[in-house]
Amino acid sequence: MSVANETPTWTLKAKNLVFSYHGPKGAQDDRALDGADLEIKSGEIVGLVGVNGAGKTTLLHALSGVLKHDSGIIQMSPDVGEGLRHRISLMPERVKWDGDRSVSTILRRFARLRSVELDLEEMLGIVGLLGRRANAIGTLSQGMQQRLSLSVALLGWPDLVLLDEPMNGLDPVGQQALVDLLHDLKERGGSFLVSSHRLRELQTMADRFIVLDAGRVVAEGDLETLIRTMKTKRTLRISLPPTEMLPSDLERIVAESMGSGAEIIESDEGMVRIAVNQESDEKRQAELVTGLVKARTPPSRVVLEEIDLAELLDAARRNGGEEE
Ligand code: ATP
Repeated sequence: MSVANETPTWTLKAKNLVFSYHGPKGAQDDRALDGADLEIKSGEIVGLVGVNGAGKTTLLHALSGVLKHDSGIIQMSPDVGEGLRHRISLMPERVKWDGDRSVSTILRRFARLRSVELDLEEMLGIVGLLGRRANAIGTLSQGMQQRLSLSVALLGWPDLVLLDEPMNGLDPVGQQALVDLLHDLKERGGSFLVSSHRLRELQTMADRFIVLDAGRVVAEGDLETLIRTMKTKRTLRISLPPTEMLPSDLERIVAESMGSGAEIIESDEGMVRIAVNQESDEKRQAELVTGLVKARTPPSRVVLEEIDLAELLDAARRNGGEEE
């Protein structure tokens, strides 16, 4: 990554990564990484999602060299050999910056430690901390602390920055600011792997997702691809006016418009939730609305509910995560 020069293209590949906190001879069950494979290309923002304990932090630590994996390969192409450690940096989860030292002092100190050049004004400007340069780090808000952590990870402009649960502790405004900042950095040539246990936090941030479950990558792709390969359904929520409509009529309208895979999972006081197939596109939704209007029950709202990571994983486990 560079703010001035043309950024070279590269691919990072990790193959069959295995790591156990009890060492290579540990029991199978102790494997925090159990054969994880992944690929990241320059210029991407990739979301790494998985429930608590899925192995996200361990994977980020292995990729950044904080821990040495027991087996498997991590390599960049074109090959950078031992230089790999300097090409990837980590922003750890919730660093607590304490004390009286100023933001500028900290950045200069880390730059010296890592033997990298620092244009302090430029870095502070990029992460939005110019006005806080003289502030004691212990007085920074959670959002500003995250920005400081990110600026430390950006020192030396690594090719890839790994962010471990960066949304934790941020309010929606802070989360949006981080999304905007990463998009801005991507425009400048940055590449990011961002972990979260909440898929929706990364929905507007990531170009695509890698889903980790029990130390393995069980699915990857953009949201629609994930839904398709993990064979989950989406939930459509419709609000209906008071109606005399028979349940069988509603079922018929739903089946005619949404296809045979659609199923009414809840119907209560004008609120109907329908599990629909992933191919339930806007055309089908429009047909559903038309059908309801014809039956003199025009819906006041039709909302496709957000994907829940737990549901996605449940579906993947039920289906053995098989690809179509
Ligand atoms: P979270 O979202 O809760 O941070 P995670 O997806 O980042 O979870 P990891 O922290 O990588 O998951 O943990 C993966 C597995 O390794 C879990 O079973 C966890 O209990 C175990 N583990 C993590 N750190 C250690 C450690 N220092 N010693 C022993 N086991 C550990």
